[in-house]
Amino acid sequence: MEVRPRLLVVDDEQSIRDFITDLFKDQYDILQACDGTDALVTLESEPGIEIVLLDAMMPGLDGFEVLEILKSNPQMAHLRIIMLSARTDVESKVNAFTAGAVDFVNKPFNVGELAARVSTQLRLSRADAELKQAKIEADAANRAKSEFLANMSHEIRTPLNAIIGVSELLATTLLDSAQREYVHTIETGGNALLILINDILDYSKIEAGMLELDAVRFVLKDCVEAALDLIRNQVIEKKLALNLMLDPLLPRSFIGDDHRLRQIIINLVNNAVKFTEQGSIRVALTGHEITTPRSFAAKNIAGAGVFYELVLTVTDTGIGIPADRQSRLFKKFSQVDNSVTRRYGGTGLGLAISQRLAELFGGDITAESSGIPGQGSTFRCVLVMPSCLDQQATSEQRAWSDDREDAKRRAFNAPPSAPAVAAPPPEPFPPLRILLTEDNPINQQVAMKLLKSLGLSADLAKNGLEAVAAVQRQEYDVILMDVQMPELDGISASRQIRQLLPSAQQPIIIALTANATEEDRRACLDAGMNDFVTKPIRIAKLTEVLRNCC
Ligand code: ADP
Repeated sequence: MEVRPRLLVVDDEQSIRDFITDLFKDQYDILQACDGTDALVTLESEPGIEIVLLDAMMPGLDGFEVLEILKSNPQMAHLRIIMLSARTDVESKVNAFTAGAVDFVNKPFNVGELAARVSTQLRLSRADAELKQAKIEADAANRAKSEFLANMSHEIRTPLNAIIGVSELLATTLLDSAQREYVHTIETGGNALLILINDILDYSKIEAGMLELDAVRFVLKDCVEAALDLIRNQVIEKKLALNLMLDPLLPRSFIGDDHRLRQIIINLVNNAVKFTEQGSIRVALTGHEITTPRSFAAKNIAGAGVFYELVLTVTDTGIGIPADRQSRLFKKFSQVDNSVTRRYGGTGLGLAISQRLAELFGGDITAESSGIPGQGSTFRCVLVMPSCLDQQATSEQRAWSDDREDAKRRAFNAPPSAPAVAAPPPEPFPPLRILLTEDNPINQQVAMKLLKSLGLSADLAKNGLEAVAAVQRQEYDVILMDVQMPELDGISASRQIRQLLPSAQQPIIIALTANATEEDRRACLDAGMNDFVTKPIRIAKLTEVLRNCC
């Protein structure tokens, strides 16, 4: 049965209440209140009221006061309130609308007009409720999509770990030039997939509001140069000039998320190189002092000095962007044109991610281009960051591997045809007692083979429970710990191990995980792990981490 709309008529005159009740009783469920207090009590106790016809002039609380109370209460804010008043002056109407009334009807009212206004407000009320419900559902669907993408990217990393890990191993064996070419093709494909997964993971995290920026000390010049180093080979290959202009008046060190800043620079400069066939790329970083922005004031960042607005501009002499396409640039998956897309490749996610990251930094990115081929484009990125009080401070060491940069380095710096000989054997490791904790059989094999190639071996635990049991049977120097496992996950297992063993027997625990986000890193370190390596595991990174353990 259809629910009849409920109306509350608030008026100190019984005759008016009865008149309105008679008028609408066939269509609506009518309730009455004889003054402001009575109205508030009725609204508290009677659910489902949608519209209130509220007399402005009443003894006790008048209509305006009732309106104010209702609008300040979040539970009542949805009510649509129509003021009834004998006052015809504009000021009364303005006051009513300003206070949150949706309509104002003069007494004595015309019956037809009042009925039409009530039914209009009911229609709007229903549309409003539907919109709110649709938004709730859309938000839930968006969250589900982000979770799905995060899960998918985790799942894709596992087989990718095998592809990249084994092709790295293969590259260290004796191969002829054709075989080396094949291995290189597998590696390039794997790395391209990895970049894609990282981009999708980033974008879904940003959309779900789950990506937070770090606040660490870093040297600005080092950060910019590290980004450009990744792209330099590509620049040389295309015979382009790459110029960097860093404002010498800028402070040396800042506090912010240098990884994400580097990601923005890499995206913009990589695009500039990709879409430029001849000429130059100019990267400039300038900035000026600003007063502490309100959004940062509450965060109270330790060691922060004066705030700066940094302006990064990347100018190229490439194909340019037609004026009518410029507004779509920062939309996800959007590329200027399909034929260009096919020619240049890419996902159309880089600029969308960079724009969202810039917004997290309190800034934004804009693009300028005449659209004339050869006259190029300029991308201007504004970021807000505090300088570091201690200007002698060096960049803070980060304890986890960045497979994003690793993949880019590999994707951009394609190895020239390498000689058909095996790489020189690495310096041998001292004996290390290693426990590999990993549930996935493919990952177990890859990790064991990588360790073997380093002259090391390991015992195997297939989940966190087995790892906790193993360390009680035998002492280990290092545990390579997967995070997501059945029975007992890597985080809980590490916590238990830290509690169980005396300090002299504590192993170094290194997270080996496909969960590649900053929150995952923090969770691992908080659980007592010492280091963090994201899958796919690279020989170089594993070697570095294990050498640190020695
Ligand atoms: P992708 O490069 O992976 O396609 P982006 O989001 O980084 O994704 O860029 C989206 C699109 O914007 C590109 O496909 C290209 O059409 C256009 N674009 C970006 N940077 C430039 C540039 N420097 N010159 C010309 N076009 C550009």
